[in-house]
Amino acid sequence: MRHTTAYTDIAPSDWDNWRWQQRNRVRTLDELDGAIGLAPYEKNAFTSCKDRFKVAITPYYLGLIDLDDLNCPIRKQAIPSAEELLTWPGELEDPLAEEKHMPVPGLTHRYPDRALLYATHNCAMYCRFCTRKRKVGNAATALGKVDLTAALEHIRRTPAIRDVIISGGDPLSLSNERLATIFDALASIEHVEIARLGTRNLVTLPQRVDSGLADVLRASQSRHLAIWLMTHFNHPRECTETAHQACERIVATGTPVQNQMVLLRGINDNIETVTELNKRLLRMRVKPYYILHADLAQGIGHFRTSIERGLSIIKGLRGHMSGLGVPQYVVDLPDGGGKVALVPESKVRTTEKHIIFRNYQGREISVPIVHQS
Ligand SMILES: *Cc1c(COP(=O)(O)O)cnc(C)c1O
Ligand code: SF4
Repeated sequence: MRHTTAYTDIAPSDWDNWRWQQRNRVRTLDELDGAIGLAPYEKNAFTSCKDRFKVAITPYYLGLIDLDDLNCPIRKQAIPSAEELLTWPGELEDPLAEEKHMPVPGLTHRYPDRALLYATHNCAMYCRFCTRKRKVGNAATALGKVDLTAALEHIRRTPAIRDVIISGGDPLSLSNERLATIFDALASIEHVEIARLGTRNLVTLPQRVDSGLADVLRASQSRHLAIWLMTHFNHPRECTETAHQACERIVATGTPVQNQMVLLRGINDNIETVTELNKRLLRMRVKPYYILHADLAQGIGHFRTSIERGLSIIKGLRGHMSGLGVPQYVVDLPDGGGKVALVPESKVRTTEKHIIFRNYQGREISVPIVHQS
């Protein structure tokens, strides 16, 4: 494996500083070509995609790319592909009807007890598989301070909401002070019991987890408001020592960390990769929560794979590794239908007196039906 040497002269004090990483994000064709050397088709793809979908990559994430492999899973998540411009039949502009279920701008309220708050539209990196790629990084749709106030006001007026997902964009694009203000506002609302911070910074910019952020999390956790962090590792190669330290730092504040992996064709759509990823996550004290089936967003068709493939991965995990490492496989339904969980069938048949199951080894085991009706 060969990595970029573009950053060998950078002082560790700069490299480990998220502000340096943020400032030095790669956004132009020349910078990207200079750092990792692009194939001609990648240059063409960059030029044709850049006006439709935003590009930015942290030096840290770029440094994980294996230069000897044009199909490197890190490369494919970060570098634009010409396939992003293809639209497949059945794909939708806003596949989860997030805009339709907005009672106020910046808040999607789909389930009775949960609401999703768009705290910012900026991200450290713009992931090529992003379901919100139509709008992330777009200044025209960014939330101003006023909108955030209106969204928080709606939550305050809606007693059914007990769980608020702070999303975006990536909320860790906000300052620690601003995050503290949001947590404070939520803590002051009697009916809000849970705040989830949804961020991919642990993967793309783990340096962002500085002592100031740890202080904010520690101070904002209370009996009244439980804060959980939801992150987004997709491949074992993202589980670096730096990411591990960031996770430990978060967990040490009393904040549980859960992972939502997106099932991505050619990146993690096989049992070996997901097994390795989930083993590593558990060692980092991160619980694999969901495997998300890629939704019907435009521009991600080349990443989508079949439901059968997803089910076969769950089947390959259950019984073969610690049950803690077996997430739920969910499909987010179009038109705001919500998430449904899919489980591989383990019941083979039912007779009058028995149910016959198939276990993880493929062995059929008959269990007598013994219960009161
Ligand atoms: C995914 C999602 C949630 C949270 O779902 P959980 O299954 O509770 O994790 C809430 N609101 C919206 C709009 C979502 O897309
Ligand atoms: S960090 Fe999240 S919101 Fe931002 S581009 Fe990546 S997947 Fe999309």
